[in-house]
Amino acid sequence: MGLEELISRLDYEEARRALLEEMRSEAKGVFDKARRVMCVQPHPDDTDVAAGGTVAKLAARGVEVVYVTLTDGRLGTVDPRVQPEELAEKRRREQEEAAGILGVKELIWLGVKDGELQPTLELRWKLVELIREFKPDVIVTPDPWLTYEAHPDHRNTGILASEAAFFAPLPHAAPCERLQPHFVRYVAYYWTRSPNEFVDVSDHIETKLKAVKAHKSQFGENPVIEDILRAYMRLAGKSIGVNYAEAFKVLTPFHLHCNVFAEDV
Ligand code: ZN
Repeated sequence: MGLEELISRLDYEEARRALLEEMRSEAKGVFDKARRVMCVQPHPDDTDVAAGGTVAKLAARGVEVVYVTLTDGRLGTVDPRVQPEELAEKRRREQEEAAGILGVKELIWLGVKDGELQPTLELRWKLVELIREFKPDVIVTPDPWLTYEAHPDHRNTGILASEAAFFAPLPHAAPCERLQPHFVRYVAYYWTRSPNEFVDVSDHIETKLKAVKAHKSQFGENPVIEDILRAYMRLAGKSIGVNYAEAFKVLTPFHLHCNVFAEDV
């Protein structure tokens, strides 16, 4: 049955639900099918905190995971005695250690100063270039449309990653025409208000927590982070009947342009 025929048989609410269900089904099981995943993050630690269990699960399955870190994290302290350059260096080493724990083999650093990330053309094309080189099936990044997100690096990272996923398949986009266009099948947003995909990370939670704790400059010996992360993952787990899960809003590039349903998919 064609889509129009289906819709013509239903009342408005039913038809809308059917349409959304159809769109949602495209995004189901996104990580089960992935072979190459690119995590585009604002700062060293964001992916590990939000999606470390998923990353550990993917890496354990042999999926190739690359982290692209846009800023250097130099502002991540409330201690005025800490020097920004030294902190940036320390956070890089912490991310390297955490990546080793999770099984991430490749780290790419774009080195923008923390707090100063802008959605520039230069960065958009750089990400398009990286996408064409690495050829990910899935991009993992913060949801830039999270209401009340005050950190511009987080908003702008999600925007840049979304733009890059959108433009990467267009052959004339970006001054990197030497590389073949690449179609990213999915963008999976974390820290999202409307998740549509939950990943069971019950077997990987200890690995994730170990990786998060490797970011000593951010979390030190503070037990609060562990408690909060466990609680959030417990909550997410309830939606699919498992102990611990991580939540994502998964969209396809088709949803990321002129799509009035994307918010509800
Ligand atoms: Zn961050």
